[in-house]
Amino acid sequence: MNELLTAALDYARRGLAVLPLQPHGKAPCGHLVPHGVKNATTDPATIRDWWQRERRANIGLRTGRGLAVLDVDPRHGGDRALSAHLRTRGVRLAPTAEVATGGGGSHYYFAAPEHLRSARLPGGGLELKADGGYVVAPPSIHPTGQRYTWQNARDLKHLEPSRLPHWLSELAAPTTPTPAARGRALRHEDPLREIPAAEYVLALTGRTANRAGYVRCPLHKAGQERTPSLRLYDDAGWYCYGCHTGGDIFTLAALLRGLRPPLRGTDFLTVQAALREHFGPPPTTRASRAPQTAKSGA
Ligand SMILES: [Zn+2]
Repeated sequence: MNELLTAALDYARRGLAVLPLQPHGKAPCGHLVPHGVKNATTDPATIRDWWQRERRANIGLRTGRGLAVLDVDPRHGGDRALSAHLRTRGVRLAPTAEVATGGGGSHYYFAAPEHLRSARLPGGGLELKADGGYVVAPPSIHPTGQRYTWQNARDLKHLEPSRLPHWLSELAAPTTPTPAARGRALRHEDPLREIPAAEYVLALTGRTANRAGYVRCPLHKAGQERTPSLRLYDDAGWYCYGCHTGGDIFTLAALLRGLRPPLRGTDFLTVQAALREHFGPPPTTRASRAPQTAKSGA
């Protein structure tokens, strides 16, 4: 029996969609799957038909929908880039299902969030294959003539992908908005977020910023630090270089109440209500109220 067909059917039985790739190659067999990875399937009849028509077709495994594969290509510095990423974060790659590609590279299989875009990762030679992607799977044959082989699992029966590490999904799909994007968002969100940091920090902590824009941080050293390390920013944000915490008015209010951001559900509503009570109605009214804060005759 055709070893490639057997493996393809085996992957399909495990819910992994496959597609035929060119023999000893990585590109889809255009005559069988004109739409490439979009034609990937778990249907055994279709799979049998494909491998009957192209017996030596390599196996493409569709990624995404819960499967992400980190593709490390040492020829483009992928091994060095991965080491650097791990070193700067002080982490190791959790043991997981791993394939040695016939070309000297590695594929690390991970259980991933349902929706994750494929992305090239910083550093070169590193790619996270997820939605819209595929990888060449064992026992396919690399253009060099070497087989793709599972490293620590005989086959998919023993394949147990670890969860995709957070730092990897962050690298692939950063969720931290750029300052510019944050600025844009600010103008459309809760008007509370437009209150200048100096104003809400004073209101919430009783502390005023020094000339450089720093206040003594209430969140570390039991709030008793001497040298101010909490910096206030013009976009109504703040960041403490002492305890490496930062955010906006909601984050600060939450932390001062002993709540862990990001706030959700009733916690958010409680903090929001307290802030509204404290700071009053939206900016138009606030602006007209502002002159009153100058003490007359004082
Ligand atoms: Zn701090």
